[in-house]
Amino acid sequence: MPTSAKPSAETDSASAGSRPAGAVTDRLVRANTHYAEEFTDPGMDARPVLQVAVVACMDARLDLHAALGLELGDCHTIRNAGGVVTDDVIRSLTISQRALGTRSIVLIHHTNCGLESITEEFRQELEHEVGQRPVWAVEAYKDADQDVRQSMQRVRTSPFLLHKDDIRGFVFDVTTGLLREITPAS
Ligand SMILES: [Zn+2]
Repeated sequence: MPTSAKPSAETDSASAGSRPAGAVTDRLVRANTHYAEEFTDPGMDARPVLQVAVVACMDARLDLHAALGLELGDCHTIRNAGGVVTDDVIRSLTISQRALGTRSIVLIHHTNCGLESITEEFRQELEHEVGQRPVWAVEAYKDADQDVRQSMQRVRTSPFLLHKDDIRGFVFDVTTGLLREITPAS
């Protein structure tokens, strides 16, 4: 796995593996205390200002708000391993459109995704280890462009969504920070 491009904010030299249990969460909770001190109620309701939902990989190198110039309240972000369109992503998009007024959908995969290094055999290995096969597909892929096309197609063919005239797909380059748009399958 590639190392983080950003130097660690840790001032000590302890590696992640040697942290006591709970230390990371404690750090997050401390950070939240500082965040809340500066926070003022934005007075918004739950409907995203830009009426857009972004589906993206959970990858730690993809800072969606910074990369897309998004502000608090602008959009829904729906993230999972790979940014793949699963039934649960369709569930979120359906609620996003029908209950919370979004109209546009942006799908983002990225280069060097962790999903490219595993295969559907992952499920068999899990079954072998724990005695139970997961009900979900791994959704591993080798070709990010093709998987973005497939994701756009899954969104487009969903019977539950109201708005399908603005669905666009991209691959984010984790080394340059640039999005590259993917032409949908015709
Ligand atoms: Zn990824």
